[in-house]
Amino acid sequence: MRHLSSVAALSFVALLAATAAQAQPSPTEHALLHELAAQVSPEREHATIARLVAFGTRHTLSDTKSPTRGIGAARRWVASEFQAMSKDCGGCLTIETPSEIVTGRRVPNPTEVMDVLAIQRGTSDPGRVIVISGHLDSRVNDVMNTTADAPGANDDGSGTAAVMEAARVLSKHRFAATLVFAVLSGEEQGLYGGHVLAGYATKQGWRVEADLNNDIVGNSEGINGVRETTRVRVFSEGTKTVETPAEADRRRYNGGEVDSPSRQLARFMDGLANTYFGNFKVTMVYRTDRFGRGGDQVEMLKAGFPSVRVTEANENYTRQHQDIRTEGGVHYGDVIEGVDFAYLANVTRLNVISMAALAAAPAPPTHVAISGALKADTTVKWQPAADAARYRVWWRATTDPQWRYSRLAPPSGQMLLKDVNIDDWFFGVSAIGADGWESPVVFPGAAGSWTHEEPPAAPAAPGTPVSRR
Ligand SMILES: [Zn+2]
Repeated sequence: MRHLSSVAALSFVALLAATAAQAQPSPTEHALLHELAAQVSPEREHATIARLVAFGTRHTLSDTKSPTRGIGAARRWVASEFQAMSKDCGGCLTIETPSEIVTGRRVPNPTEVMDVLAIQRGTSDPGRVIVISGHLDSRVNDVMNTTADAPGANDDGSGTAAVMEAARVLSKHRFAATLVFAVLSGEEQGLYGGHVLAGYATKQGWRVEADLNNDIVGNSEGINGVRETTRVRVFSEGTKTVETPAEADRRRYNGGEVDSPSRQLARFMDGLANTYFGNFKVTMVYRTDRFGRGGDQVEMLKAGFPSVRVTEANENYTRQHQDIRTEGGVHYGDVIEGVDFAYLANVTRLNVISMAALAAAPAPPTHVAISGALKADTTVKWQPAADAARYRVWWRATTDPQWRYSRLAPPSGQMLLKDVNIDDWFFGVSAIGADGWESPVVFPGAAGSWTHEEPPAAPAAPGTPVSRR
């Protein structure tokens, strides 16, 4: 390089950049997703949150009988809104209210925790389910205060509004997979609504492909005054909550610590934002949730369902879990004035197009496996499925955050990547439908599989290079 003039060096760098750019596969752009994004209305979301705030408190242990105040009135209103949407789509939504009687550290007396679900049945693969969730319940400083005004405009009126707006927009269309719009309760008392949802999904035998859990998604001004309207965080676990010790052993050795299905969902959403939004981006965070904090997606992950948490870029803690008051000139409380509806609408758009893209695409490929140790080439295999017309094999450097290279593959279920050495790259496969809709990428083996198809690992013989032994 030192023999090159600086101009030549510069053009060499430019050439490298251009080559890299060309290597980035161009995704198919679907007009439907632009259409759906345009239909999300910040005004409607404003009306939804104003209505939610008007219930005074939506504390999980608050009044359930009053027609005007408390969690009971609030969830009946949500159900009635879903009913009205269903009327507008020829009865396309089924409203279910699964519940459980719980007690716990923050629930001293047996209390019914009830979720409100609107279910839009898939046309060709109804057992495959895409969920969006948010929580209806709210709180103030004292988590046991069931009577004080707890507007919960942003935590989590914003997530609830996103779920309801997604239902309104998406219920006007039909998708291969089932969509579930989930308004949960009991989050602040210990993630009970997420637990109820996970239990219900398991009982129904749903193959939950994704839960997009929206919690605190409507504020654009951080506690330190920074105002940021152009990005949202998507948190995802790196390894599966339900990973077995044997699976962890193999994953630790061969890689896969940043390639769980939940992480691929985050990558999928990141890619959609890049394709469909001019100035609104996903910041992937390689964590299950914010540091030391939780959300309902955790209960879904425990049940083995790939899930992400969507949260605004900068939180304002004076507006979370606070009694409404002014102290030292600071206004505390989760009031509607703290919600930026243009921002919330963009977060909702990301959810809406993610759900549509997932539900329109084939299921993520199963039985993805790679081979090629001691060879110059890598073979990628997967199980062909009826809903896929073809596949795309992906690879990236082991240190890359996003899938970088790809090649279209036939429906046969196998592809040889000539001169791509298995040691140096991470691999994956996505499924593409006849109309060009593409699934998230699946990382090989148990670390990346959406389903539990992997046979239990055979115990490794001494010296076998598959575990740390
Ligand atoms: Zn919350």
